[in-house]
Amino acid sequence: MSTAIVIDQIVKSYPGAPTPAVDRVSLTINPGDLFFLLGPSGCGKTTLLRMIAGFIDPTSGRILFATPQSPQPRDITHLPPNLRNTGMVFQSYALWPHMTVAKNVAFGLEIRKVPKDEISRRVAEALDMVQMGHLAQRKPNALSGGQQQRVALARALVVKPDVLLLDEPLSNLDAKLRVELRSEIRRICKTAGITTVYVTHDQKEALSMADGVAILQAGRIVQQGSPAELYRFPGSRFVAEFLGETNFLSAKITNTTPGVGPEGRPSTELATPAGPMRSTHPLPPGAQVGSDVLLSLRPEALRSAEGLGQAENLLRGSVVETTYLGELAQQIVQLAPGQTGASAGGSLPRVKVAMLNPGPGAVVAPNTPAALIINPADVVMVPAS
Ligand code: ADP
Repeated sequence: MSTAIVIDQIVKSYPGAPTPAVDRVSLTINPGDLFFLLGPSGCGKTTLLRMIAGFIDPTSGRILFATPQSPQPRDITHLPPNLRNTGMVFQSYALWPHMTVAKNVAFGLEIRKVPKDEISRRVAEALDMVQMGHLAQRKPNALSGGQQQRVALARALVVKPDVLLLDEPLSNLDAKLRVELRSEIRRICKTAGITTVYVTHDQKEALSMADGVAILQAGRIVQQGSPAELYRFPGSRFVAEFLGETNFLSAKITNTTPGVGPEGRPSTELATPAGPMRSTHPLPPGAQVGSDVLLSLRPEALRSAEGLGQAENLLRGSVVETTYLGELAQQIVQLAPGQTGASAGGSLPRVKVAMLNPGPGAVVAPNTPAALIINPADVVMVPAS
């Protein structure tokens, strides 16, 4: 049965450091979930993972493992790592070079004194799961990086851990293999049904693989949710920017209209230096008429207004440059001031626009006038500071 992980107000202060590396983090990870700790270098994600593994002792707070069978969750906060029944995969594969693949995978079972027959059966099962059964008798140095990481994964899974912990497992691999192994690791974790915590600084990895993600900044969780929730509803400039390319435009709220009906979304009118805009995105907490906000406009949400005859959320400007990439063309557009009325002062940014499936007319000369539009649901408001 799968295990839930409950992290309760965990803190880690390293001696001499001015601020805690992990600062009052609370988190519940559901049984069987593939959960990501995502954030820039130094935000505390490895420290948090290592506290779950037991390699780092927390300064305060609790970590609990809960299974449906046990009435009381297990408090593992200060339990030695070998008594937690976790499996760990590191960035460096850490395989023993003198042992075959099969021996590397068997090692954890041998030290647990598992009977020989059962060891062979479980090693074969684990290697099959990572599609490495045919290379069981190879030595690690005769394997590619991706194959070595599969073996490391089999070695962690073979002991049937309650919790699997993955510390940047793909960062030593080349870009193509990283992308291939994303879906492979997700398939393996979901098939095994093991609750998995995965640390990465790569937002694409998290977005493409996770059931749930916690974004960390300076030791704290700044936002948590599913990949789509985080990408579409970032709560701050930091999260919007960290999860993918975006354009920011300063704005002031001029009017709000509550949503009508069960599906009705509130509508917010905004004054921006590029002209009036409307958003049906949720208001940031505490924002009201007169508040300054920042608009996050994703490059793929901006479209050419040509031939659409739509005047709402129209942004005018001129093309700075276009890069043709085949499936996509990227344009940089310098926005122009909006007409007076609902326009606000402030700087006019250059915005990136991503045009999918670009036709022959997509590449235009610099200084060509551009007119862009964006759906009100894609005008994302985040706090101004
Ligand atoms: P991340 O995994 O997000 O890159 P870490 O958990 O490794 O972040 O580090 C978080 C913070 O704690 C960083 O400021 C780092 O310098 C500091 N830190 C990590 N390990 C130690 C240590 N053993 N002693 C002192 N400071 C540390």
